[in-house]
Amino acid sequence: MTETVGIICSGDIDDTLLNPVMRITNNALTESGSPFNYVLRPLLPKCSHIPAVSYDARIGRYNIEPFFSLARTILGQAQAKKDDICLKKAIVMTNVPLFSYCSNSNVIGEADFNGSYAVFSIHGMDDDNKEIYNSRIVKEILFQLGLLNGLRHCSVEGCVMQQCKEVHDLDSKSFDYCHECKAKVAKLPKKPKYRQYNGTLEV
Ligand SMILES: [Zn+2]
Repeated sequence: MTETVGIICSGDIDDTLLNPVMRITNNALTESGSPFNYVLRPLLPKCSHIPAVSYDARIGRYNIEPFFSLARTILGQAQAKKDDICLKKAIVMTNVPLFSYCSNSNVIGEADFNGSYAVFSIHGMDDDNKEIYNSRIVKEILFQLGLLNGLRHCSVEGCVMQQCKEVHDLDSKSFDYCHECKAKVAKLPKKPKYRQYNGTLEV
């Protein structure tokens, strides 16, 4: 059965960006050889506000945790309507720079391993070439979907599960999961293992 992944925009994201990004991602997910059977759909008709408590003036970035709370709230509300029993996961896409207290570092995004929620930012991904801009976002969504399914960072060149420290690292990745990652998907444990906030801040 195809599972639905809800996309939640938060902040200031151009209306014209989401549709092509979702179309390209859905195409990549339905291509033969894709390890996942997902379809993306937006959960809100327009962008949600940035969570009020997320800005951290000490570091000048946005704490990623309130965005996870937003994902839980919006996904919960959408599931309560019971009009899509295949809706199981949600990914928040925002435009502000993120910081994670789980890793004590700036992050492009994070996901609950084998869980239901992921958050990422398109901050710094824009490019004069719209195709490059869109492809960066698509790769990040595919990466987050991999994490949500328990895949870890991969060292195989071109694999979409390669870790990106900088936005430009996205450009050397493809839309594909390598053979090793695909093989892992079939064997992954199904028990959720959620991220853990370690309560320290060293900046
Ligand atoms: Zn891989």
